[in-house]
Amino acid sequence: MSIISEKVLIIGGGPAGLTAALYTARANLKPLVLEGPQPGGQLTITSDVENFPGFPEPQTGPELIGQLHQQAERFGARFAYESVQSIDLSRRPFTVQTDTQTIEASAVIVATGASARWLELPSEKALMGHGVSACATCDGFFFRGKEVVVVGGGDTALEEGLFLTRFCKRVTIIHRRDQLRGSKILQERALNHPQIGFLWDSVVDEIADPAQNKVTAVKVRNVKTGAVTNFPCDGVFLAIGHVPNTGFLKGQIVTD
Ligand code: NAP
Repeated sequence: MSIISEKVLIIGGGPAGLTAALYTARANLKPLVLEGPQPGGQLTITSDVENFPGFPEPQTGPELIGQLHQQAERFGARFAYESVQSIDLSRRPFTVQTDTQTIEASAVIVATGASARWLELPSEKALMGHGVSACATCDGFFFRGKEVVVVGGGDTALEEGLFLTRFCKRVTIIHRRDQLRGSKILQERALNHPQIGFLWDSVVDEIADPAQNKVTAVKVRNVKTGAVTNFPCDGVFLAIGHVPNTGFLKGQIVTD
């Protein structure tokens, strides 16, 4: 396995990594960006981005990330489509082991973003890709004319819910409280949307039916009354936040 030396190694090719690449490239540090398993990061699975300053018209996630990429590349950033297996930050130069090579770097910028959080239900795992998803832009198309639920009450849940109305007959947002966390503008759009309904103070305890290898319903529990109901649906979209992709840093630096 080869060993290469870099001044600046950027781990992660989403907006944060590409911004770091732009700045370090302009400082003539010739950064190498490790793009990892999802080049471009979560923006590549986002539909319209309408709150990025400087773009009065909505850009699609892939359009925006493409432009960030080009901009960093223009100043000399380099890219490798590799994932980090391990890292040693105990001595300099730092050592990073990827799936194909060892990289020694004077500086390492970690911009690895986050991954979707799951409910951790066995039925959820069993039905992943068979009606359970955490990405409406990736999978919404498969639910044309169907009824789906979205779990969560933040911006992602509202955005996913709104996006799904393009395909689905009805979208029900299931939220564990009676107040949404998402931004006011998305709240208003979702609350006023004729195809979107809400189940408040509710959590999903189980997803049916792994035996049929498809989603037929969710078991919903009202956290205030304890009442459990069976809510028929064809798909479940999880939008309950994200966990940082920092597992590879364990034991190397303190994270909060
Ligand atoms: P988030 O803001 O952390 O919201 C997660 C939601 O899921 C919360 O409503 C939370 O409920 C609920 N939740 C968490 N764990 C749960 C569980 N185990 N069971 C049931 N519900 C659970 O995450 P996000 O919506 O992915 O957004 C992340 C960040 O990205 C935010 O800063 C958001 O503003 C931003 N974002 C922005 C846009 C946009 O500007 N268009 C789009 C997407 C995301 P509680 O409310 O009770 O905690």
